[in-house]
Amino acid sequence: MSPQLFDFAQVRADFPILATEVRGKPLTYLDNAATGQKPQLVIDAIERYYATENSNIHRGVHYLSECATDAYEAARTKVASFIGASDADEVVFTRGTTESINLVAHGFVETILKEGDEIVISHMEHHANIVPWQIASQKTGAVLKVVPVDERGVLDMAAFEQMLSDKTKLVAITHISNALGTINPIERIIRKAHALNVPVLIDGAQSTPHMPVDVSALDCDFFVFSGHKIFGPTGIGVLWGKREWLERLPPYQSGGDMIEKVDFEGTTYKGIPGKFEAGTPHIEGVIGMAAAIDYLQSMDRVGALAHESALLTDATEKLSAIEGMRLIGTAPEKASVISFLINDIHPHDIGTFLDADGVAVRAGHHCTQPLLKRFGVPATARASFAFYNNFEDVDRLVTAVQKMQRFFG
Ligand code: PMP
Repeated sequence: MSPQLFDFAQVRADFPILATEVRGKPLTYLDNAATGQKPQLVIDAIERYYATENSNIHRGVHYLSECATDAYEAARTKVASFIGASDADEVVFTRGTTESINLVAHGFVETILKEGDEIVISHMEHHANIVPWQIASQKTGAVLKVVPVDERGVLDMAAFEQMLSDKTKLVAITHISNALGTINPIERIIRKAHALNVPVLIDGAQSTPHMPVDVSALDCDFFVFSGHKIFGPTGIGVLWGKREWLERLPPYQSGGDMIEKVDFEGTTYKGIPGKFEAGTPHIEGVIGMAAAIDYLQSMDRVGALAHESALLTDATEKLSAIEGMRLIGTAPEKASVISFLINDIHPHDIGTFLDADGVAVRAGHHCTQPLLKRFGVPATARASFAFYNNFEDVDRLVTAVQKMQRFFG
């Protein structure tokens, strides 16, 4: 499929849920940083798989098993092309970003980390990119170093550079902050880390839904993301790693399918990526995610990003004009995420109030408790936009917030 120019009306029609109502109001879905909605094409691909191809993969010689295996492996090639990887064997299917990071952290515990080593993360990481490294540090005696962020939610790059040393064994950093929207300068981060031979893991959970990514051009060592945030199913995600790294890391889970030969005296494992995919995988998820990638690749992603930026600008301007509004995260390089507080209204009350008008936002800590602590707040309300949102969605959000502000006085 060749990319079409961004066709807003068509895009919106592709997502059946966007035409539904909640609480008697048109749905205004602004919780895209939590999960994306699914285009009909993804829903159809999953239905078609179960209706016509369902079978277990890799182990059967019968027709259906070959169909399912072909679809599963074709998806691997598709994922590689989606992120600019040249070798599909470097693509490992996981349950999502969280499991991908856990897989790498487990491997680092087993093979790399020792007492006194350092792992560099940032203050704006999702818990999924904090806790696995914390546990890895506890297990090995390695030390977790945290790059600070400033008042706008921008990484302190000078502090980052000072943190790098011959003790650093990995930099694990998010491409885009799910709580603030900050887009991090990952090209520079990777360059600086590589200058000291330090590998870099990029958490792409929030970038892959918004922008094309090219791991070859970035030259990162690991890149992880989730299928459900790129408008595919839940429970499926990707770990991409450079071949030499994946070959170096041990299996994460063990059992069927990941082996070459099992004997009571010992077992040998498949090469990559098979050694990381134990048991029957989420075949339906892989097929659905491949359909989501087809969908994104058929779209003008540059046009989509420009549309999202316009929504962000419009929403930021209109929300900022409301009395008592406090935006958390004002980085100059920002994706379409707005975290906010208004007067002393509890974010959960904001969420509940907006929900009554059909506006779905997230309220809470967004799995970034250390980050919110840094801003002195326990929670925020967060509106996050996707390419299928429109300016009416912005207006419905703003109107609902104004109404709430009047209600709470
Ligand atoms: N990292 C970031 C930046 C995220 O936004 C998320 C999801 N909110 C995750 C990691 C975890 O992703 P998942 O729950 O799909 O594993």
